Amino acid sequence: MTIQTLTERYRSGETIFSAGDPADAVYVVEAGQVGVFGGGNGDGRPVAVLAAGEFFGEMAIVDGRPRSATVRALSDCRLITLNRRQIVSRMTAADPALRLLIRVLVDRLRRQVAPDRVGAPALADEIDATDHHRTIDRLKLEAELQIAVDNDQLDLHFQPIVDLTAHQLAGFEALIRWRHSTRGPVRPDLFIGLAEQSSLITAIDRWVLERAVAALARLRAVSTSGLPLFMAVNISARHLADPGLVDFVSETAGRAGIDPSMLKLEVTEGVVVNDWDVVDCLRACQGLGCRISLDDFGTGYSSLSYLSRLPIDVLKIDRSFVGAMLDDHRTMAIVRSIVGLSEGLAIPLVGEGIETARQLAVLTDLGCRFGQGYLFSKALPETEAMVLARGFRMP
Ligand code: C2E
Ligand code: CA
Ligand code: CA
Repeated sequence: MTIQTLTERYRSGETIFSAGDPADAVYVVEAGQVGVFGGGNGDGRPVAVLAAGEFFGEMAIVDGRPRSATVRALSDCRLITLNRRQIVSRMTAADPALRLLIRVLVDRLRRQVAPDRVGAPALADEIDATDHHRTIDRLKLEAELQIAVDNDQLDLHFQPIVDLTAHQLAGFEALIRWRHSTRGPVRPDLFIGLAEQSSLITAIDRWVLERAVAALARLRAVSTSGLPLFMAVNISARHLADPGLVDFVSETAGRAGIDPSMLKLEVTEGVVVNDWDVVDCLRACQGLGCRISLDDFGTGYSSLSYLSRLPIDVLKIDRSFVGAMLDDHRTMAIVRSIVGLSEGLAIPLVGEGIETARQLAVLTDLGCRFGQGYLFSKALPETEAMVLARGFRMP
């Protein structure tokens, strides 16, 4: 249910609330003026005159007490009201760290203005902070991640992607690694998720792009594959909205002497649908020569119509399908359909998460063009990826 914000009109002289009234709304003056009066009946001179854009009535929300003053319209006026339920529902939807901070501030304010009523029901008690410890831990991890980025403590590994028709190494996907000094390895989907909530993700994605492109130049120099190796790099949603990304990609590739056509930018389904700024950014990257790979295909958006409209050069079928296809005929049917879709659209498909020879055989028979997975190799540090580039053999 959506909760509507109400606008209320008051005539000059009308009372909005009186001292002693129960309180469950905050007001914002939209037009006109109101006067705040210390006494219960709104007589005498107002202690404050409030005009458009100003809030009143917020203290009663904070401490759960009846109104301590009377407010009267000094002219015809229009007010926006926000009731307690609306405030709590917005708060519940907010970032947990922000929620925790507001809860602390509201509680502190209440202790100052109404120390005698600390036990009374108040806004602070309605803001769910049961995840307090988790929130603190996430904030700590975010701070540590910032330090890791600043001090170059992240690592990049490379997982081979194989051409299943040519039986040759086709390229690598760059995958980030963070070995925390006390926590040990932190899973990338965990810390990337954290970084995506702040601007840290842009710094991380750029760091990855720079390292990945430089590594590609070294891997190509030793490669014995008959194919020109590419590098696939994951780009987060937030970064795709950054107008500086295209120039950054172009300059980074130029510095490493890599043609942008050897770069695949991996984006997830949800990101490209409905956001035209992102689509413009992807088209501009394509304009440089980069290819756009749609990652985790099949897990996100259910409409396929966007596939014909969006700049997509490669589809990556999610590893959950590959993992389950041999045990579940429905999943197998989905995999078949995705292979058919990629053929019909003439968009090559990468099968991700291939762990067994049987999965490889099935995907190859279906006509899946590329494969990636532990059967070939896990993501490797650069030195080991170099060994693989020198002499790759099909399993
Ligand atoms: P993803 O882009 O779907 O990456 C593929 C993930 O599948 C990697 O996990 C990889 O190690 C794993 N994988 C590959 N083959 C197999 C297999 O045969 N079996 C199984 N079980 N897993 C396999 P990883 O490295 O833990 O990365 C997880 C996610 O974190 C990535 O999913 C990606 O969304 C994100 N990520 C990783 N590195 C980066 C990065 O540099 N930048 C950004 N923005 N995101 C990244
Ligand atoms: Ca990926
Ligand atoms: Ca994936």
